[in-house]
Amino acid sequence: MSTTHTRIYDVAIIGGGPAGLSSALVLACARRSVIVIDGGAPRNAPAAAAHGLLGQEGVNPLQLLKRGREEAASYGARIAQTNVLHASGSADDGFTLVLNDDSTIHAGQLLIATGVRDALPAVAGLSRRWGRDVVHCPYCHGWEIRDQRIGLLASGQMSAMQALLFHQWSEQMTFFPNGLEFPADQLDKVRALGISIVSGTVCGIEVVDDRLTAVVMDDGAQVGLDALAVPAMTRARLDGLEGLGVDVAENAAGVAVVADAAGHTSVPGVWAAGNAINPAMQVSESASNGARVAMTINTEMVFARADRAIADSSNPVDA
Ligand SMILES: Cc1cc2nc3c(=O)[nH]c(=O)nc-3n(C[C@H](O)[C@H](O)[C@H](O)COP(=O)(O)OP(=O)(O)OC[C@H]3O[C@@H](n4cnc5c(N)ncnc54)[C@H](O)[C@@H]3O)c2cc1C
Repeated sequence: MSTTHTRIYDVAIIGGGPAGLSSALVLACARRSVIVIDGGAPRNAPAAAAHGLLGQEGVNPLQLLKRGREEAASYGARIAQTNVLHASGSADDGFTLVLNDDSTIHAGQLLIATGVRDALPAVAGLSRRWGRDVVHCPYCHGWEIRDQRIGLLASGQMSAMQALLFHQWSEQMTFFPNGLEFPADQLDKVRALGISIVSGTVCGIEVVDDRLTAVVMDDGAQVGLDALAVPAMTRARLDGLEGLGVDVAENAAGVAVVADAAGHTSVPGVWAAGNAINPAMQVSESASNGARVAMTINTEMVFARADRAIADSSNPVDA
């Protein structure tokens, strides 16, 4: 059955990960009417624990967000656990969101906090191990795989440098260029740290007793490993939001929404925060970025209200 919510929210936040929920908390505390629409698929959902998070070290990512939803809701934020299917509108006329549950939301301002999609190389079995023993980031997973046999499967031009980084966590490192070419000076650094380089194409992985044990090369050879680092390319999640027309740009890691430090996108009234603008932001940085953007949204709304009050007082209706 179709439902229409006629209420116009000050701010609709698309995405209820750390960035979106942190924005909602700040905006709701600032007495703004705010709704978070969240499809429930945060980027780190496959991981059992979130690391590098002061005061919450090792927390389960889904538990953290559950707590965040409760905190935002306790100040009056509405949380809709569904997807935005279509977004349209403008700052002048307001924005309209059509949700997967057939309802429609209206809002004066929109915040895109939809995160990214990680695109893994086409190697059979990788996605089933993602966030477990197939990992992307040493700061997220490095401690758990320290001193283990780690392979780095190249996926882009930063990969040789990422092999150097992972070496900080384990000296048992193997670099798989996987057919990509790397500058000689980068490979010199890889060799200088004692990282083995295995040429050829990685075409599969071996898993025994629910643990990664090796990668399989195209000639059938196996290279024994305990963990495989895959610095996946990322793309901001904008499904259904294309009609808003926000600018996106390619960077070394993939495609991100273009926004300034305060979160303004190329479209007035549409803001962005978190991984959607920078896939390198971890949970704490995504949350603090969301909070910062929320403060700017609130401040600009206050200033706009003052401007309207001046305009209204200089054009009295009864004059
Ligand atoms: C495997 C893995 C492990 C990680 N481990 C760590 C770690 O240990 N420590 C750490 O600090 N960081 C870690 N990260 C990084 C962390 O996931 C990100 O920093 C964080 O998720 C970014 O938050 P975000 O709010 O920008 O996006 P997300 O957390 O991805 O949240 C975006 C939300 O938007 C929703 N959404 C998207 N499109 C729509 C739509 N159209 N309608 C409605 N909802 C939508 C999604 O369903 C999702 O719930 C890890 C990442 C990965 C991939």
